[in-house]
Amino acid sequence: MPGSFRIGTIAGIDIYVNFSWLIILVLLTDSLASGWFPSAYPGQTLVTYLLLGFISAILLFVSVLLHELGHSLVARAQGLSVKSIVLFIFGGVSNIEQEPRTAGGEFWMAVIGPVISLAIGGIAYGFFVLASGSKSALAAILMYLAAANILLGIFNLIPGFPLDGGRVLRAIVWKVTGRPTTATQVATFIGQLVAYLFILWGILQFFSGNPLGGIWLGFIGWFLLTAAQSVRAQATYDTLFKDVTVSQMMNAHPMTVPANISLQKLVDEYFLPQGLRSALVMQGDILAGLITLSDIRHVPREEWPQTPVGFVMKSVDKLHVVSPQQNMKDVLVLMNGRDVNQLPVVENERLVGVLSRDAVIRSLEVRQRLGLRQVRTDEESQSQGPREEHKDQEPHAV
Ligand SMILES: [Zn+2]
Repeated sequence: MPGSFRIGTIAGIDIYVNFSWLIILVLLTDSLASGWFPSAYPGQTLVTYLLLGFISAILLFVSVLLHELGHSLVARAQGLSVKSIVLFIFGGVSNIEQEPRTAGGEFWMAVIGPVISLAIGGIAYGFFVLASGSKSALAAILMYLAAANILLGIFNLIPGFPLDGGRVLRAIVWKVTGRPTTATQVATFIGQLVAYLFILWGILQFFSGNPLGGIWLGFIGWFLLTAAQSVRAQATYDTLFKDVTVSQMMNAHPMTVPANISLQKLVDEYFLPQGLRSALVMQGDILAGLITLSDIRHVPREEWPQTPVGFVMKSVDKLHVVSPQQNMKDVLVLMNGRDVNQLPVVENERLVGVLSRDAVIRSLEVRQRLGLRQVRTDEESQSQGPREEHKDQEPHAV
């Protein structure tokens, strides 16, 4: 997610905070300080209320983080690789690079989040009961945490993608029908329905004297809708690319440049005339690396004539390479997960082509316009061995 900064690492998982989270931190602190605390803990100064609001907002986000850690750790226990957790305006996202391999795996991975939220809510409520003899600051914080976490748990159990409940539903449909694709369609359909209901609710709130709440609900609806649609698109994508290999999509005549020419020559003779943004660098017959516009930009212009390409390029050991026989579905996971725009295709240590994101997107458009779809059904593909439904990091929203 752009605009995110890392705040630490828990159990080997990088934790990021997005700038949009700071907006919600301010809004939440303000609304708690002006609404909840003056009624739950009356007679204090504004500064006290702001401080209590801030502490509660931070504790709520710790709760969200624990919810996400639940998803991530269950995913990792299943052997899936977890890249990071990002906290942002609508809560948290666990970036899990692969999809669970079984319906049961998906079920546990999804359900753990709401279970953790409900548990935190229950524990906070328990302490609230113990502390509620007096109208204290602690009791007010605990009551807020209890209510917020229980709401969070219930909200996430709504059975529409991308909410956890949608994943639980998907796991159940998958288990019952044995068809993961059907399960995705059902869960994303209900997810879109839920999203439209939120938007509708937001519009009603907006026109009935609660404009801010209305806008907020509308935004949540819009976020859910975008996520549900992108998962749906990804499912289509998987179907389209099911039996396609890298060799069918790669450019077999990639643009290459020698490692020993200068940056000046590279720009004047290759990049400018051909409008290139990047090129593979060769040392004789061997792939040595990749040079991109941003690599060149990092070198001051007056040094271009003396700087060889080989000094500036990203060397081959830092590049992801693929083989021509690899399945496009797996390669797309790699491209999206690592956010790379092109991959060198290598066979027996020789460069045989390059696979670029642009080419994949163009090919996808052509296939869709021609109505070319793979006709194999789930049952057929399942008979060929264990099935992996790869999807690109579906967000586990809040
Ligand atoms: Zn969740």
